[in-house]
This record gives sequence, structure tokens and C-alpha cells, in this order.
Amino acid sequence: MSDPQSARPLPNPPPLAGEGRVGVDDLGLAGKVAIVTGGGAPDDGIGNGRAAAILLARAGARVLVVDIIRDAAEQTVAMIAAEGGEAAAFVADVVGEQQCRALVDAALGRFGRLDLLDNNVGIGGRGSVVDTRVEDWRRIMQVNVDSMFLVSRVAIPAMIATAGGGAIVNVSSISALRPRGLTAYSTSKGAVIALTRAMAVDHGPDGIRVNCVAPGPIYTPRMYTGQMSPAGREARRLASVLGIEGVGWDIGHAVRFLLSAQARYITGQTLVVDGGATLVGPGRAPG
Ligand code: NAD
Repeated sequence: MSDPQSARPLPNPPPLAGEGRVGVDDLGLAGKVAIVTGGGAPDDGIGNGRAAAILLARAGARVLVVDIIRDAAEQTVAMIAAEGGEAAAFVADVVGEQQCRALVDAALGRFGRLDLLDNNVGIGGRGSVVDTRVEDWRRIMQVNVDSMFLVSRVAIPAMIATAGGGAIVNVSSISALRPRGLTAYSTSKGAVIALTRAMAVDHGPDGIRVNCVAPGPIYTPRMYTGQMSPAGREARRLASVLGIEGVGWDIGHAVRFLLSAQARYITGQTLVVDGGATLVGPGRAPG
């Protein structure tokens, strides 16, 4: 016997604070304001942050592109403007508390609100606990973890005050899930996952979603300006069970999805974007 109650269509859920209305193909990003840290890249290269900034702008968001290198940030802004999007550059070192406050103030001053944050800055580093220099350990933890804490602690109150909620993505790495000789980096990126989960719990009641993207080997300008050998590049491609190379756009799309209204019921999660590299043995997972 069927229950007539269960046959009744459910009412559409109301939009969450700060999320806007969700259409079938609507990312709900038009008119939103986003900050992307490390949103620059050299020349016309596509880094993870630049890709996210461009894709957010294509969906109608206004973007503050933050980078420690002025030219890198301004180039991203120029690329967005060339497509008819709206963005502004801001130069900051995200390990500085005052600079993190200033970058959030700049987004509010320029665009009047803050809805979205892509905490994308991160630096690498090789070595075990024995051969990592103390100053390198501290620098990696500072740039990769402290920066996300410092920007978020100013951005979250701004989101609540100006948008009634928001969404944040913190960029981790598969090195957090399967370490292999980058111990300070792996530790910092593990902290980013824990930070994400804690922030999601703390600020869910404020209407703020917080998720993590964990990239695998991605061919960004950091790789080719670092003189990666063709063999090294090929090994990274083969780390994917798909046999394809990851590029900045792959991360940008994941970030944009998690910041969009289509992810309105997703928080505290880590989305691995690695072509399946972590599914197979460590020998097949450089990155
Ligand atoms: P990248 O090294 O090209 O850096 C992006 C930008 O960040 C650069 O323009 C740089 O100037 C800026 N930046 C660096 N330190 C900064 C600071 N202190 N303040 C402000 N800006 C600063 O980055 P990418 O390769 O595109 O990676 C971006 C993120 O993705 C990082 O968190 C990285 O750890 C993560 N990731 C990358 C890969 C990969 O294979 N590329 C893999 C896993 C995770």
C-alpha cells in the first residue's frame, strides 16, 4: 500500500543565507564578491588561483586578485577585463596580519561586500624531519597554514556583516593524504584539511560553508618556471590513472563549484582533484 503522504511533492528548499536562488544550471555567483589569494601567475600562464579567479568572473562574480607579485595579480585582472569581467588587483603578503586585514578591507571598499574566499596561496618544500631546516619548516607552516587563518579571521566577519553568509575553499594537496618526502609541506596541507573541517563546524551556523580542494600533480607555472624536466613532467602525467595531465583549470573548476550555490549542501569536505593518482601505488604518484 502506498502512503499518500509520501507521494506529495516536497516544497523547494529555501535558499541559504548568502547563497541566492539556485537554477538548474545557475552557479548563483552573479553579483557575488570573491577574494582569491595567490591569484596571480607569470605572463599568461594558468596557475590554480588564476584559473579560479577567471572562472569566478566568467560566472559573474567580482574578484579581488591578491598576490605578493604586482605584475602577476595585474595580469590576471587584465585577462578578466579582456573577457568583460570585473576584477581588481591587490598586493599583499598573506603571512602579514595587517596585510590580511587590508586585503579584506580592499574588497569591501572596492566592491561593497564579501561572499567568497579562495585561500589558494601555498609553497612547497622537500625533506624529512631530519633534513628540513627549522627556518624552512616554520616558513612553510606560516605561508600554507597561518595565511589561511589570518585571512579567514577577517573575511568571515565581513561575509556575515555584508552578505549574511558565504563560502570558503582552502587549497590543500594530495601530499596531505599520501606523503612522500615533502614532510613540512605534507604536514601543512594536512593542517589545512583539519582547519577546513573546524571552520565548517564553527561557521556553519553563520551560513558559511568551508571546503577543501586537494590537487594532485598540476602543471602550473610553478612547475615550468621551476625548470621541471620533460621526464619529470611525464611521470606526473602518468600518475593519473586516466593518463592525462592536470592543469590549473581543473582546480579552478573544483573551486568554483564548491564556492557556488550548487554546493549549498556541501561543507567540511575535501575534494581530491588528481586524475585518480591517490587510488594507485605511491610509485605512480609524483606531485
Ligand atoms: P604558485 O606557486 O604558482 O603560486 C601562485 C601565486 O601565489 C604566485 O603568483 C605567487 O606569487 C603567490 N604567492 C606565493 N606566496 C605568497 C604570499 N605569501 N602572499 C601572496 N601571494 C603569494 O601556485 P600553484 O602551483 O598554482 O598552486 C596553488 C596552490 O595549489 C598552492 O596552495 C599549492 O600548494 C597547491 N597545490 C599545487 C599543486 C601543483 O601541482 N601545482 C599540487 C598540489 C597543491
